[in-house]
Amino acid sequence: MNPKALYKIGYGVYIVSSRKGALLNGQIANTVFQVTAEPPTIAVSINKKNLTWQYIKESRVFAVSMLCEATPMTFIGLFGFKSGRDVNKFESVNYRSGETGAPIVLDHAVAFLEAKVQQEMNVGTHTIFVGEVVNADVLTEDTCMSYDYYHQIKGGKTPKTAATFVAEKSAAPPAAEAKPEPEVKTAMAKFQCKICGYIYDPAQGDPDSGIAPGTPFSALPDGWTCPACGAAKSEFEEMK
Ligand code: FE
Repeated sequence: MNPKALYKIGYGVYIVSSRKGALLNGQIANTVFQVTAEPPTIAVSINKKNLTWQYIKESRVFAVSMLCEATPMTFIGLFGFKSGRDVNKFESVNYRSGETGAPIVLDHAVAFLEAKVQQEMNVGTHTIFVGEVVNADVLTEDTCMSYDYYHQIKGGKTPKTAATFVAEKSAAPPAAEAKPEPEVKTAMAKFQCKICGYIYDPAQGDPDSGIAPGTPFSALPDGWTCPACGAAKSEFEEMK
């Protein structure tokens, strides 16, 4: 079997959100699809470990926001690489409460759907929730982000809890005759987070964390963390 054939399946990049009483949470999912047209019905595949799974299980409702290509990695990181058990993801996000009470994320959203769960299927690590669409609208005419675009253009990574996660084989050790890499690093070298794919660009800095433009990666304080996923500085590698 060649598992790379699975990489050829096309997906999008979505926020699936739900509620539990007054508590709100959402997560990135790439596995959202329409099942039938009449009545309009969609399915989502959600990892049982995720807080959003708990909320959908309890409230039986969920919303889906389809993200545009221009969505920043920090925004994807908030929903895709941080847990609602640690942060309130909706604190800094524009959203509105839908007809079902599920929060509909509006930032960077091209369109949204809201659904009531009709059926669910237990599939090992995940549950497929099938929901009838009760509310939907198009918000902008921007292009939706495909999962391929997220990986190829944005440099995004796949978290272990994703339905499509594939463990990467560790890289082969370098050949003995391989030349050592030069020690000299330019001050303006970009560094990428190995966890989520966020790129630190010294020209931009990280103003939200008080890092001024022009700050080289080496000058970042030790306590600085990835603004997208919260990973430590040691999780970054220089981009070639
Ligand atoms: Fe990160």
